[in-house]
Amino acid sequence: MALIVQKFGGSSVANAERVNNVASIVTDTYKDGNDVIVVVSAQGDTTDDLIAKAQEINPRASKREMDMLLTAGEQISVALLAMAIERIGCPVISMLGWQAGFMTNSAHAAARIKTIKADRVRSAIDKHQIVIVAGFQGINKYDDLTTLGRGGSDTSAVALAAALHADRCQIFTDVEGVFTADPRKVPGARKLDEITYDEMLELATLGAQVLNNRSVEMGKKYNVEIEVLSSLKRVPGTIVKETANMEQMLVRGVTKDTNVARISIIDLPDVPGIAFKIFSRLAAKNINVDIILQSIGRQGSKDITFTVSRDNAQETMDQVSRIAELQGKKILCDTDVAKVSVVGAGMETHPGAASLMFEALYNSDINIQMISTSEIKISVLIDEKDADKAVAEIHEKFMSSKSL
Ligand code: ADP
Ligand code: ASP
Ligand code: MG
Repeated sequence: MALIVQKFGGSSVANAERVNNVASIVTDTYKDGNDVIVVVSAQGDTTDDLIAKAQEINPRASKREMDMLLTAGEQISVALLAMAIERIGCPVISMLGWQAGFMTNSAHAAARIKTIKADRVRSAIDKHQIVIVAGFQGINKYDDLTTLGRGGSDTSAVALAAALHADRCQIFTDVEGVFTADPRKVPGARKLDEITYDEMLELATLGAQVLNNRSVEMGKKYNVEIEVLSSLKRVPGTIVKETANMEQMLVRGVTKDTNVARISIIDLPDVPGIAFKIFSRLAAKNINVDIILQSIGRQGSKDITFTVSRDNAQETMDQVSRIAELQGKKILCDTDVAKVSVVGAGMETHPGAASLMFEALYNSDINIQMISTSEIKISVLIDEKDADKAVAEIHEKFMSSKSL
């Protein structure tokens, strides 16, 4: 007998048939003699629909009220799933995030879990009830509802698995696992049997939506093995863990992120302190800067180009234009860009990876605007219109390469 946490995403509970399908997966696990805690997301596009409703009424609504609204999506799912399980005849109880003890900080829309006071969940499990918990939500010290950021239900599930020392944490979704590229966009993408936390963290951060990056971070921190698998087909998925079988693959995945904007500041004075002034100001506003490129100074001036998330582009422009040394300088913002990345621990020991990636882009006549690398990833910034093609071509190049 094991304690198993199972999480089902929005598409897995999108309609009555899917809710009943999830109820049968959960109750089969329970009938096999396991304790089961289930985390669910809002049905289908509910969260997007709620955001659209808010936009209609007040595009500048406060984050507190947005959280009040968005938590309603998961409330519907937990109740419906509990009803489906009641009908099957198994003991079940649904709980909202606060009832399950999810205590967070007060960063509305991007809250961090501080602790989980799981007594109520534990006592329900002791009574052999199946516990259904609303994902993506918690409560802060002022008793206000909070949400963990888009895709946050994955994090709720991994956090519960860690807090309760669960034997397994399964993330059920609408694909069969983690693939070498988005299987909906790249037909030749292959399913991975295993992937390390570090590689999955990079993939998730660089755009592979299948797992939320904070959930991977949490899995690594508390050593929770995460299995990503399909709610529609009962086949083995992908295990995310500390060390993974390399299968002789140079890269684990190719991914794109379109939530990117490129900011360029032209003709800056080539003197010490300019970069500090720009980036400390952005840091103070909690704006994350990603790739940074500074040109070599010529005739006393230089250019600085960097990327931020597209959501932060306007705020970045506002902040940068207020810096005294930049008065009158040309500041450009391009939001038609995308970041395409390859990720794989194998690249650490194979120097040819970057050239393979650049060759694939050259063959497709795609221009590279910026490049950034770390031990296990290479990212390029390109035109957004080329992004899907770039992912497909790079993927093909790495998968067919026998030379490395
Ligand atoms: P859920 O609603 O279950 O949380 P998401 O839509 O958040 O599901 O994530 C699953 C989706 O992630 C898949 O439908 C797939 O299109 C996308 N995806 C992107 N990159 C990958 C990848 N490398 N492997 C698997 N799926 C990926
Ligand atoms: N319903 C939330 C969202 O759409 C949380 C999640 O699905 O994980 O982002
Ligand atoms: Mg998701």
